[in-house]
Amino acid sequence: MKRIVVLGGGESGVGAAVLAKTKGFEVFLSDVGKLKDEYVEILQQYEIPFEEDAHTDDLLCNAAEVIKSPGIPDTAPLIVKLHEKGIPIISEIEFAGRYCKAKKICVTGSNGKTTTASIIYFLMKNAGLNVGLAGNIGKSYAYQVATENFDYYVLEVSSFQLDGMFDFKADIAVLLNITPDHLDRYDYKMENYVKSKFRITQNMSDNDSFIFCFDDEVTVEHLDHIVLKAQQLPFSQTEEVPQGAFLEKEHLRARYRNSDFSMLIQELSLQGKHNVYNSMAATVTAQVLKIKNEVIRESLMSFKGVEHRLETVLKVRDVLYVNDSKATNVNSAWYALESMKTKVVWIAGGTDKGNDYTMLADLVKDKVKAIICLGVDNSKLHQAFGNIAPMMEDALSAEEAVKKAYELASPGDTVLLSPACASFDLFKNYEERGQQFKEAVHNL
Ligand code: ADP
Repeated sequence: MKRIVVLGGGESGVGAAVLAKTKGFEVFLSDVGKLKDEYVEILQQYEIPFEEDAHTDDLLCNAAEVIKSPGIPDTAPLIVKLHEKGIPIISEIEFAGRYCKAKKICVTGSNGKTTTASIIYFLMKNAGLNVGLAGNIGKSYAYQVATENFDYYVLEVSSFQLDGMFDFKADIAVLLNITPDHLDRYDYKMENYVKSKFRITQNMSDNDSFIFCFDDEVTVEHLDHIVLKAQQLPFSQTEEVPQGAFLEKEHLRARYRNSDFSMLIQELSLQGKHNVYNSMAATVTAQVLKIKNEVIRESLMSFKGVEHRLETVLKVRDVLYVNDSKATNVNSAWYALESMKTKVVWIAGGTDKGNDYTMLADLVKDKVKAIICLGVDNSKLHQAFGNIAPMMEDALSAEEAVKKAYELASPGDTVLLSPACASFDLFKNYEERGQQFKEAVHNL
């Protein structure tokens, strides 16, 4: 029996192990850290042997194939060793794709993946399609392939997943944007990161569709240099495109074959320039899937948004508190600040990923009346904005940050948590940061 080794016992690893087991492979899962109780239970239920707190070489190097969690870098000694031995290493999505006959709509990009994948899923559900949502959201793709029977999947795919994808093919691929992120995993070469993102298009045929942002120079430039069989459907906020989505006065307009869609931007439930892009990408996807204009319009008007993404928390004394904890890079914080219509008390900071804050300077000048730095080391923020922001304060907890913001904000202002940084210096993850922010706001 073919032996499959799964490295990493998080959501995707455990799902891959379950799928491999149900397909009759000999499976072994290994994680250098501790597994969550819920995952241990699943592994026991499926009688899958595993190890925690260790990687035992002898148990791993005899694999016919390895499924690697996207969190483990290629430079990890074990991965280098497996490569040297010539053992194929793939990602969970690649593995699950082999057993999935459903049509696959894959969403990637540096920012907006979860939001856009969730809008597309919502649209498809509303159109009555039998669709699952997976990738970095909810239950893993592999687990769902093992236990569900969907006709369609909407998959949020990160570049780390893409790096382990070879034969997988998307029926519809959406590439939202490419801005520098995670460059530490790509030898600090933007080119490598771009290539990784474009793996979303590999194996596509002329029956498939590639939906991309025409305003994203990096994407368009790379497209010029590759051969792509899929039909190309751009979306743009600067130019009219013959097929795809564009702006026409105050309207989001989209054309695909016989379908012609138009809707007032103000009617979109998610506001902000970035969400116009996300809504455009979702609309073109829906058109390719032949979803009716009425369903598209109603869905885009009623979509609730995803937690921690420009999420409205509460108004206190006429000050609006907005949780954008998921803004873990400069680009997403730019879109958050750009979408603000009032003066802003901006809570930013955390673990800096080699950020360059220059692109935020103008927005900060225009809109920000105070910055509250929420991080252990705030020196880079002080350097970047010390001379621009009228006021700067430091905080070491979400509660302290919210209290300070409360004191500095006046009626009509917005207090925005949009950190532009990762959260690991003070919090377990961005969800915990957002949660604590919301709690502190509710306690005001
Ligand atoms: P991802 O899944 O790619 O991390 P999310 O939908 O979770 O993207 O959003 C991450 C952050 O980026 C949020 O702060 C959100 O407000 C912002 N964002 C969402 N869509 C875009 C976009 N198209 N371009 C830039 N930033 C975006």
